[in-house]
Amino acid sequence: MKKFNLRSSYLPKPTRLCLAACTIFITISPAPHATAAEYLPGIEWEEPRQVTPGKNNQDPPSDAVILFDGVDTNAWNNAETWSVTDGFLIVGKGMISTKEAFGDCQLHVEWSSPLPAEGTGQGRGNSGVFFGPYEIQVLDSFENATYFDGQAAAIYKQTPPLVNVMRKPGEWNSYDIIWNTPRFDAEGKLTEPATVTVLHNGVLVQNNFELLGDTPFNRPPQYNPHPPELPIRLQDHRNPVRFRNIWIREIAPIQGKRTQQPTLRDKKTSAKRPKKG
Ligand code: MG
Repeated sequence: MKKFNLRSSYLPKPTRLCLAACTIFITISPAPHATAAEYLPGIEWEEPRQVTPGKNNQDPPSDAVILFDGVDTNAWNNAETWSVTDGFLIVGKGMISTKEAFGDCQLHVEWSSPLPAEGTGQGRGNSGVFFGPYEIQVLDSFENATYFDGQAAAIYKQTPPLVNVMRKPGEWNSYDIIWNTPRFDAEGKLTEPATVTVLHNGVLVQNNFELLGDTPFNRPPQYNPHPPELPIRLQDHRNPVRFRNIWIREIAPIQGKRTQQPTLRDKKTSAKRPKKG
């Protein structure tokens, strides 16, 4: 087989010239980013705060509020009715709730279903993480049939998780939850529904889900006005679920101020922007 060659005599001369011109053009064309103008958004941003991450991603970063470190339950009301054994907080009598109230936040919580597994359906390893009246289900969903919008990582009675990432009973699960609290106007009318994103054992299971309201067992969801900040609660469903390593970060949008309309700056005629960072 004859190799392709620009100098191949079987190509007609005009074709050879055209190919040569294309090769020269490709060679000398500037990279896509090397344009003459720069887009300037016209917004002056605040500098993002420095946060020191934990040694591992499940460890609390420097700006986290520790809710349970394996020993101290002082962050909680009613914790005296639960027990702490071997660094684990074990469900006791009644819900516990944080003394501090939280609005928009990132919550990390680890939990383990009882071993041996006892009960079936909603009666096996049931607890829950509540943001005010809104529950993210905790349940032993390892080979345990129940209604899908009631299994682990469901928004209770509103939506199942995208996938089931449950570990075996006795093993540890983690939830990383991004919670945006609902907003109400002065008349108590809903202006922004709550939204939630959940990673279960590092896997996305709720993708910015918009809640329909609260999550009771016995009636449809509804919104009742409340302050943006409410306690976090952990549920007693009469199953000795264990918890550990619970921390939370309050979150807020980064702030920016428009100082001019978006524009294109001619890089040839403008002074260079000072480098930062
Ligand atoms: Mg529950």
